[in-house]
Amino acid sequence: MTSLAEFTTLRVGGPAARLVRASTTDELVDAALEVWATDEEWLVLGGGSNLLVGDDGFDGTVLKVETRGIRRLDAAPGRARIRVEAGEDWEALVAYTVEQGWAGLEPLSGIPGSTGASPVQNIGAYGAEVSSSLAAIDFLDHETGDRMMLSAVDLALGYRTSALKRGRRGIVLAVEFDLADTGGVSTPVAYPQLATALGVQLGDTVPLADVRRAVLELRRRKGMVLVADDTDSVSAGSFFTNPIVPENEARKLPEDAPRWPVDPEPEDLVLPLGEVPAPRAVQPARVKLSAAWLIERAGIGRGFALPGSRAAVSSKHTLALTNRGGATAEEISELARYVQIRVFSQFGVHLEPEPNLIGISL
Ligand SMILES: Cc1cc2nc3c(=O)[nH]c(=O)nc-3n(C[C@H](O)[C@H](O)[C@H](O)COP(=O)(O)OP(=O)(O)OC[C@H]3O[C@@H](n4cnc5c(N)ncnc54)[C@H](O)[C@@H]3O)c2cc1C
Repeated sequence: MTSLAEFTTLRVGGPAARLVRASTTDELVDAALEVWATDEEWLVLGGGSNLLVGDDGFDGTVLKVETRGIRRLDAAPGRARIRVEAGEDWEALVAYTVEQGWAGLEPLSGIPGSTGASPVQNIGAYGAEVSSSLAAIDFLDHETGDRMMLSAVDLALGYRTSALKRGRRGIVLAVEFDLADTGGVSTPVAYPQLATALGVQLGDTVPLADVRRAVLELRRRKGMVLVADDTDSVSAGSFFTNPIVPENEARKLPEDAPRWPVDPEPEDLVLPLGEVPAPRAVQPARVKLSAAWLIERAGIGRGFALPGSRAAVSSKHTLALTNRGGATAEEISELARYVQIRVFSQFGVHLEPEPNLIGISL
């Protein structure tokens, strides 16, 4: 039996009953259809950088996506449409697009994991989300067993979420991106800390390589790139998403609590035939809060650990929970629950975990 701890960046997780590694799309499709024909449990695994797997492991088949390939689909003037196979390493893809002079993905430098997982939680950082460049995915649908192209709209991409994270099951076989062929100039810088690091104003454009370098440096300082000898990067990245709450709740927080207005989430507008949409209440204005601020103000600082535990808050970034060596999944989740309780009892705000929880609950 294969220990899943070897396949997750948190380095926790018990054994998988079966692990199938697929290095071609045909192998991946065949393996999936074979498992789906049974009533066995199954799990798709990319780089394991957004997973918390329980100590009892996974009693089913893990399909490990190892397909590779980047292909340019057309060369419309000023655009670069590319198809990237799901197992392609995300960080290597960003490096490649920057080398080619294609803009769109550069603020997402340094995020670990596979390209196939990028739409699952609509990865984002430094003012960008994959939703701004994603055109479509090649998808194997679990419900029908059919292979289909889904557009970005079909995926209902939102803040760290998508239809795939909300429960539509299947396998992303490849992702198509629509990038700007700018000859090396970035998209407008959209994040204040990045603008400061680059010495430019928000909205300015700079060489793509400069954005990439600055993002990697900012991320390194927060332990948010995978570095072999940095124990702070033995994590699943941010463990909690920034909570989104109605404006009237946000108003109850201390005045210095950071908050940002949020557009309403895209809703699933497709209704089964004959179903009448329920009357909708007017959506109250919503506000995004800073999970890191809430955690710190609840008295949990960098490096915090429960007595005797091998799990700790990163010493560089309060949002990341880390394995300091030999921690169990239970130790990580104990710490996560403790953080949730402290924040809830102080501010009445519930922190949602960002990683996908397999065989464990908080
Ligand atoms: C140090 C560090 C920093 C991070 N920084 C960021 C960040 O800045 N922004 C951000 O958004 N995320 C960040 N993350 C989280 C993580 O890197 C991303 O969510 C990444 O996209 C996960 O990719 P993966 O291949 O490792 O997915 P996995 O962890 O293997 O899987 C995650 C989920 O996606 C599903 N999945 C994986 N591949 C497929 C596929 N081909 N088809 C269908 N489902 C699939 C899995 O079943 C699982 O539910 C960070 C993580 C770490 C460790």
